[in-house]
Amino acid sequence: MITVTEALDRLFALAAPLGTETVPLLQAAGRVLAADQVALRDQPPFAASAMDGYAVIEAASGDVLQVIGESAAGHRFDGAVGSGQAVRIFTGAPVPSGAERVVIQEEVQRDGDVITIGDGLDSGTHIRPAGNDFPAGHRVSAGQVLGPNDIALLASMNKADILVARQPKVALISTGDELVMPGETPGPDQIIASNTMGLHALLTELGALPRLLPIARDTTASLTTVLDLVEDADLVITIGGASVGDHDLVAQVAGELGMEQAFHKVAMRPGKPLMSGRLREAMMIGLPGNPVSAMVCGHVFVAPVIRAMLGLGAFPAPRKSAPLCHDIDVNGPREHYMRARLDNNGLTVFNRQDSSLLSVLGAANALAVRPAYDPARQIGDVLEYLPI
Ligand code: AMP
Ligand code: MG
Repeated sequence: MITVTEALDRLFALAAPLGTETVPLLQAAGRVLAADQVALRDQPPFAASAMDGYAVIEAASGDVLQVIGESAAGHRFDGAVGSGQAVRIFTGAPVPSGAERVVIQEEVQRDGDVITIGDGLDSGTHIRPAGNDFPAGHRVSAGQVLGPNDIALLASMNKADILVARQPKVALISTGDELVMPGETPGPDQIIASNTMGLHALLTELGALPRLLPIARDTTASLTTVLDLVEDADLVITIGGASVGDHDLVAQVAGELGMEQAFHKVAMRPGKPLMSGRLREAMMIGLPGNPVSAMVCGHVFVAPVIRAMLGLGAFPAPRKSAPLCHDIDVNGPREHYMRARLDNNGLTVFNRQDSSLLSVLGAANALAVRPAYDPARQIGDVLEYLPI
């Protein structure tokens, strides 16, 4: 058995970044930017008014000025403003040449084409200089997940097509005679394939493209047939059948299909019967079938693998730390990812840690991490956890 850290290292050795593709800006949200984007012009491209008002050279309370024209957004005033003159101006409009400031309209009394500056004149210019937002040459760096704000900025930089990391295609295979899909009518000895759906959701959230394959039954023939449907997946994830019971066929069948195994079994709870290797063109991860084990391995192993494939770097799931709300017992020989609830007071570790309890996982928002042989801990002791 290897440690979680060692397993991650071996997984990263199999999970190379996948290359890039160009997508329209509207499809770039949630994708990983694969090349720096550089602005080719200033924004705003001209000095622009920040307010509705009057563009003038200078103004003092009581000044009387002649209005000689108008500058609106998208329609500049072509002339220049002279002494004793003003140009009616609106937010976002180009400031006419000669103007040094904009007097906001609330500070002006207008009578025909004549304005009088009021008493409450402020000292602001109300002008956004050219390049005030960003200058030509401004850079958005590659290697980040694009969110809505980034999309707005890239649009403002006039970027219509964006080079992004290709999304990992993931084939998800459940195994087991006892499984039916949600919505089907289970027989008396059957249960619903659950972690398959959870992993699909996790993979989608991570920016991968998961595809559910038919459930493989517990026969060599069925598993072989389903593994033959993998096509061009970058990553094949099997669920269940990964330990050494009579009906646990994944290692055997994958081996017969030529999988080069990188490891089988990790010193962790839950999730011990984890395996990985290379199967044909794809990376393969065999997850344990117990629902919580599969989901925990999803957070601890699959998520970092997907990030690595997206070019976001090879690093473990980020941890945080928080104080315990109560005492907990000594840990055994395997690293333990305990289902826990974090609130303002700290971490409460649930009593029931059986790896079949999705109701407990559903109530958890953290996995409290206990190193192998971690001694008993007291209330107030700080523990590391993975937010989930
Ligand atoms: P296995 O690793 O195939 O021995 O499965 C371990 C336990 O997990 C068994 O109780 C299975 O019924 C259950 N199990 C396996 N795969 C799934 C799945 N996709 N969804 C829910 N439970 C599963
Ligand atoms: Mg099984």
